[in-house]
This record gives sequence, structure tokens and C-alpha cells, in this order.
Amino acid sequence: MPSLLGRGVLALTERAPVRRLFTESRPGRALARRFVAGETLDEAMAVAEGLNARGARVSLDHLGEHVTDRSLALVARDDYLACLDRVGTAGLRANISVKLTQLGLGLDDDLAAESLATLARRAGEAGTSVSVDMEESRHTEATIEIYAALQAEFGNLGLAIQSYLRRTPTDLDRLTGLGGHLRLCKGAYQEPPDLAFTRKADVDAAYDRAAQLLMGVEGVMPAIATHDTDRIDLVKRLAPHRTAYYEFQMLYGVRPTLQDELLGSGYPLRIYVPYGSAWYPYLTRRLAERPANVAFFLRAALDGGRS
Ligand SMILES: Cc1cc2nc3c(=O)[nH]c(=O)nc-3n(C[C@H](O)[C@H](O)[C@H](O)COP(=O)(O)OP(=O)(O)OC[C@H]3O[C@@H](n4cnc5c(N)ncnc54)[C@H](O)[C@@H]3O)c2cc1C
Repeated sequence: MPSLLGRGVLALTERAPVRRLFTESRPGRALARRFVAGETLDEAMAVAEGLNARGARVSLDHLGEHVTDRSLALVARDDYLACLDRVGTAGLRANISVKLTQLGLGLDDDLAAESLATLARRAGEAGTSVSVDMEESRHTEATIEIYAALQAEFGNLGLAIQSYLRRTPTDLDRLTGLGGHLRLCKGAYQEPPDLAFTRKADVDAAYDRAAQLLMGVEGVMPAIATHDTDRIDLVKRLAPHRTAYYEFQMLYGVRPTLQDELLGSGYPLRIYVPYGSAWYPYLTRRLAERPANVAFFLRAALDGGRS
């Protein structure tokens, strides 16, 4: 959940002139390149290969969300199929992460479910899995329902869960029996206080309770998705007692030194690698998490980097 300042950043970045400033200026695109592997699948593959070579697993996210047209939802599905084929051919240690609104959720939920099923089948053929991102709370219930049905059918899916949501403990009761990989994150969207904790201390405490639960359950693969060292240290303390698999997960470009430290110490780490031309909404969430990033951008923009 963004801080008060982060919420201000989100509101600002929704304005058209600010969007243009980021997307049409050299400093804006340079900032995006810190968090996004590139605009093409080739660029994403090159980054994924480099990360694999350093010992990290990868989750590839072809950026896009909230499609407004069925044909765009099908294009997104096909882009992911091409990505899975490349992962299989190259033998990468990589899966894909998808947003169901990119596959049509909210527009045509059946289409989104069919496309996710197609991706799960192809991922199985490529020897890998599909992670489902969690988006705004208005999509949580439908996302869980689609995930639960398809995980029961294919068995190679995973789902993100957000510790800031008050409903998450109840969702975990439902989800832990389904196997799969459950990616625990804090939550990146602006949500109302009746649905989500707004105080960082409450979000962190909820995160720790969920992490403790996940690390103690057999049959699911906990994915601890955070750059917060207090949360990571808790899981490190729990890890020796866990016999089955788990992994840490971090975002491409965020705390790279911490990523190297985890890898250097032999911890399993997966890096979430976004790519594609629809990077603006993703970038705004990264800016809202750390408003200092905006200051770097403004300084560069004022230095005259507009192109
Ligand atoms: C692999 C992965 C997948 C995710 N998937 C989802 C999802 O499906 N749905 C969803 O709602 N959210 C998702 N998120 C985002 C998540 O919910 C948080 O918004 C984000 O990870 C920041 O929270 P944090 O746990 O790192 O803790 P924070 O307390 O926000 O950050 C801890 C420290 O990390 C550093 N840091 C954090 N973010 C940044 C940044 N953008 N730039 C620079 N430094 C930073 C800062 O130093 C900060 O002090 C995902 C995160 C990860 C790592």
C-alpha cells in the first residue's frame, strides 16, 4: 500500500501531462529502464539469461493490464505463448507472471479463464509454471476463483496474495489446500481502509503472520516477495525448519545489492522481470513505493534531458 506521499505520487502520475513527461522524455524512459528489461521479448530473454547465469530464477511479466477490447486480450495471450515457447526452447529457469485483467478479466471473465488455461497447458509443455498477479481488490474474488479452478485442473499455477488486504487470512485458508506457489507480497494498489490496512506496521505484521503460516504448511511453495529486510530475516529464521521448497522473490531493478547478497549466501531467489511497451502503470507503482525515485527523475528532467 503506498504511503501518503506515494498516494500523492500515484494521483500525480495519472495526469496526462505528467504521463507525457515520463513517457516522452529521455530521463523518464531511462528511469523506466531501471525497472523494465526492455520493450521486446528478445531484450527480456537476454536479461533472463543473464539472471539465470548469476543463479537467479526469473518470472517474466509482459506488461499490460485492463484491456478494453477482446482482441487485445487475445494478443496478450499470444504474446505470453510466444514467451513460453522461448523459455522452453532456451531451457531457461523462468516462468511467466500474468495479470488477469490483461487477459480480459472485468471485460469477459470466461475469456480470461480460457486464456489462463491455454497458458497453463503450454507452460506445462515447456516444463514451467504460470503465476497470477493480484490486482485491485475489485478483482480479488474473481481472480481467486479462476485460479482455484485451474490450479485444480493443471497443478502448475501460482497466485499472489497481498498482506494489506483484511480478507487475506480467510483466502489463505482456502488457498493453502490447493498446492501451487503462493507469492506473498504487501500489495501495491491504493485501497480503502475498510478493505486494507493503511498503516505500514499493520501491513508488516499481517505479512509476518502470513509468512509464518506459509512456511509451516506442506504442499505449497511459499514465495516471499519483498525487499524488506525485516520480513526477509524472519523467513530466514523460519527456513531451516521447512523441509519443502520456498523462494525469495524481488523486482528487477529494486535493491540489486540485496539480491546479490541473497544469491551469494545461497538463498533461492526469483527476479520478476517486466518487459513490453505498456510500462507506464508499472513504473508509477514503483515510484509510489519509493517517492525518492521521482526526485531523481525530476532532477534529470530539469537538467534538460527532454527528447
Ligand atoms: C516478485 C514480486 C511480485 C509482486 N507482485 C505483486 C502483485 O501481484 N500484486 C501486488 O499488489 N503487488 C505485487 N508486488 C509489489 C508489492 O506488493 C510491494 O508493493 C513492493 O514489493 C514493495 O513492498 P516491499 O515488500 O518491498 O516493502 P517496502 O516496505 O515497500 O520496501 C522495503 C524497502 O525496499 C526498498 N524498495 C521497495 N520498493 C522500492 C522501489 N520501487 N524502488 C526502490 N526501492 C524500493 C526500499 O528501500 C524500502 O525501504 C510484488 C513484489 C514483488 C517483489
